[in-house]
Amino acid sequence: MTPNRAEHKLFDVVVVGGGINGTSAARELSASGFRVLLAEKKDLANGASSRSSRILHCGLRYFETSHPVRTFAFSPRRLYGAIKMAKASMEAREELVRLQPERCKPFTMCFPLYRGDDIRGWHLDMGFALLKRLGPPDPSLEYRRITADLDMELPFATDLRDRRQLRSIATYREYMIDWPDRICVDLALEAERNGAELRLFTRVTLGERLPSGEWIIELSDGAGPIEQVIAKVVLNLTGTWMDDLIPPGRASSTPLVRGTKGAHVVVRLPDRYQGFGVATLHRGGMPFYCLPLDGDRFYFGPTETPYDGDADKARPSSQDIDFLLGEANYLLPGLNLQRCDVEFSWAGVRPLTYDPDEPMGRRTREIHDLRERGMPGVLAMTAGPIMSHRSAGRDLRDSVMGLITPSRERALATCIPENVVSARIPRSADQEEACRSAVLSEHARDLRGILYTRTARAWGRHLDRDTVEHTAKCVADLLDWGPEQVAAQVDEFLEHQRSAFPHGSAC
Ligand SMILES: Cc1cc2nc3c(=O)[nH]c(=O)nc-3n(C[C@H](O)[C@H](O)[C@H](O)COP(=O)(O)OP(=O)(O)OC[C@H]3O[C@@H](n4cnc5c(N)ncnc54)[C@H](O)[C@@H]3O)c2cc1C
Repeated sequence: MTPNRAEHKLFDVVVVGGGINGTSAARELSASGFRVLLAEKKDLANGASSRSSRILHCGLRYFETSHPVRTFAFSPRRLYGAIKMAKASMEAREELVRLQPERCKPFTMCFPLYRGDDIRGWHLDMGFALLKRLGPPDPSLEYRRITADLDMELPFATDLRDRRQLRSIATYREYMIDWPDRICVDLALEAERNGAELRLFTRVTLGERLPSGEWIIELSDGAGPIEQVIAKVVLNLTGTWMDDLIPPGRASSTPLVRGTKGAHVVVRLPDRYQGFGVATLHRGGMPFYCLPLDGDRFYFGPTETPYDGDADKARPSSQDIDFLLGEANYLLPGLNLQRCDVEFSWAGVRPLTYDPDEPMGRRTREIHDLRERGMPGVLAMTAGPIMSHRSAGRDLRDSVMGLITPSRERALATCIPENVVSARIPRSADQEEACRSAVLSEHARDLRGILYTRTARAWGRHLDRDTVEHTAKCVADLLDWGPEQVAAQVDEFLEHQRSAFPHGSAC
């Protein structure tokens, strides 16, 4: 029986997925007057958006391959894709640093260059000259290639391998995206202020298409179906789960997304690393970094392996940790890192674009119009990195504008200048108040949502039972938790912390 259109709530756009791209799109669409529902099956930033390497890349990454000249000379399509992504990176870098300086932590990235390497100094000189031309002048790249007095200029360089073969170290200014999870929360809250409806812990299933062209959207929670709503347009921004949202009858043999897993390990490094990061290609030919987290804590990563399972279950494996320590010690043997040095590790799955010619997926951001798959009014996006989420939101909004017109006037919040809209909750803010506010005003429903996503208190370190219990008691009245539920929530959080962010175990 065809559902009765009049009985259901009608939205212009249902955005499925509360990652960086879903929240950014919801913000742009609601600000433009679209009636928006943003639905997320778990909590905000549940997927890749909270598990990335957090680099606001200047764009060099897209030219980094073992044989850059050969790779790009023989594949104009790859060169075009790399230039497009590098330009987008430079623009995103400018935009994010200008609008959210509190979320962008600058540091000096150092790329050691050895005699006999496939990547030569002149490759980097050319690469940076190109980036300079592609992007806005500020913030400057501060590119240099240091050939003398390396240890004086870069004190950590004493730890590098094979010093006699070291020819130079290229340095440039790079940024860490401090806390992408919080960016997702701020974007979602902004969308809500613009009038969007926000449903967390609500899974979306795509139902049938009505004769009038709209889509039936089925919403369910842990206990089962809760509601059906109608959408004129659906944005499938579910990252690596994207192909699962396509109803079986409409699925194509060609998937949209290719998942690759990436793991990282956190270790403490000596003072000589302060202010620096290190970039290289690991022995398998993929980009590999040492990156500042906070204080004396740094992380090494990522790995890159194909991943076909449920991204919710992606964990750093023992092999991942051994691989990362092996590559860290190959790059910086002076550190002699051991398993017991690993304080924390994490893994995520990249939602790259499926391409039968590129088994590890394509890194070019793409909007897919699923009309071609018999699903008019459904759009999806693959390979949208965190750093360019603002332009992703705008591109998605423009694509929706090509299909429908907004049913409301422009939202009020668009009157607020862009650079003051993001909530700026310092991590040092009164902890109890921040935890209560996460529940009261930011839709947190559990300890993960409070301690990772909204306050970052657990990020990069393991919390002890007392701290977690204290937090649970502090919000228990707001979430209606009795003593038994407090205990269950604490156990669940500690188990998640142990399994999703394992430490390196004893040496
Ligand atoms: C290891 C690694 C390193 C990376 N490094 C960087 C980096 O340095 N810099 C950078 O900019 N980017 C980096 N990225 C890429 C970046 O993290 C992702 O491209 C980006 O986060 C994708 O965001 P998204 O919103 O498209 O998907 P996701 O963040 O995965 O969000 C999808 C959301 O959809 C939800 N969902 C799924 N199915 C449903 C459903 N049926 N109903 C409702 N909700 C659903 C999920 O719970 C999830 O929250 C990295 C990624 C990884 C994994």
